[in-house]
Amino acid sequence: MNPLTLFARRFVAGERPQDAVRAGERLHAKGIKATFDKLGEDVLDREAAKRATDAAKDLLRLIPPGIERNISIKMSSMGQEISRDLCLENVSGILDVAREAGGFVRLDMEGSNLTQDTIETFHELRKAHENVGIVLQAYLHRTLEDVKEAVRRGDRVRLCKGAYKEPPNAALQDMAAIRRSFAACAHLLLEGGQYPAIATHDEAVIRDTIEHAKAQKVASSRFEFQMLYGLRRRRWEELVAAGHKVRIYVPFGTHWMPYFYRRMRERKENVAFVLKNLLGG
Ligand SMILES: Cc1cc2nc3c(=O)[nH]c(=O)nc-3n(C[C@H](O)[C@H](O)[C@H](O)COP(=O)(O)OP(=O)(O)OC[C@H]3O[C@@H](n4cnc5c(N)ncnc54)[C@H](O)[C@@H]3O)c2cc1C
Repeated sequence: MNPLTLFARRFVAGERPQDAVRAGERLHAKGIKATFDKLGEDVLDREAAKRATDAAKDLLRLIPPGIERNISIKMSSMGQEISRDLCLENVSGILDVAREAGGFVRLDMEGSNLTQDTIETFHELRKAHENVGIVLQAYLHRTLEDVKEAVRRGDRVRLCKGAYKEPPNAALQDMAAIRRSFAACAHLLLEGGQYPAIATHDEAVIRDTIEHAKAQKVASSRFEFQMLYGLRRRRWEELVAAGHKVRIYVPFGTHWMPYFYRRMRERKENVAFVLKNLLGG
């Protein structure tokens, strides 16, 4: 294992699906749920898309009974950038396996060039499948409307800020504005959404969610918080102890660089952690 791989391990559960499942079992013992993600994105040939599809199916089958069979996938690794039909066929196959296994599949959201296609493909998949959810990103100008539509349709949404570098015509650039957009979307989802997932490490956003749910008498069983593996571990347990549902996104695999890079961009403390280790601190 090269040294950088060692540092990525703070954010990535390991290289093999078994490593991720083991992390899931450790979380489960603490009353925390997991969603498992085999890292990989932007696949441009059919064979690689097929391999990613098969890996997602194998992962669903590997998760032992007792642990929720909940995985997250990226449409760009399932052939989205090759053809919609190919992607639909691959993801439908994964959803069939998930249905047999009593599992759930979350479609991660990627760059804004893929947003419309991801939402349309999701609507297509929803015609035949219940066990699938989408992600909406609060930084996009379009998202409040997408949230309203998701509430009307009864879609399951994970709400996050958004992790990709986007131009000002597509996305808000200022953190205060992104937080306001997040709150507006989260409030709609809490009041009328289908078991929304509030995915953030941002304490202001977490507190606003808890306060809004309380004020609107939304029971804590009707939504969940989600955070990323390796970030704010103590907070996961505090939220569970306070009666909230918490799910951790557990990535694994060898293609960790783009994921790792996004985590570095988000927070200077993450960079500081890596530098400290590189310098032997
Ligand atoms: C479960 C999950 C799934 C995701 N899925 C997607 C997806 O499909 N598509 C996508 O584009 N993005 C996704 N993201 C990433 C997301 O869009 C954000 O880029 C990422 O979560 C950073 O934003 P934040 O709200 O967590 O906090 P940030 O904006 O990074 O931080 C804001 C504030 O939160 C607090 N904070 C943050 N991290 C910590 C910490 N480690 N310790 C203490 N305080 C902290 C600090 O006060 C900080 O100033 C996902 C995130 C999660 C948690």
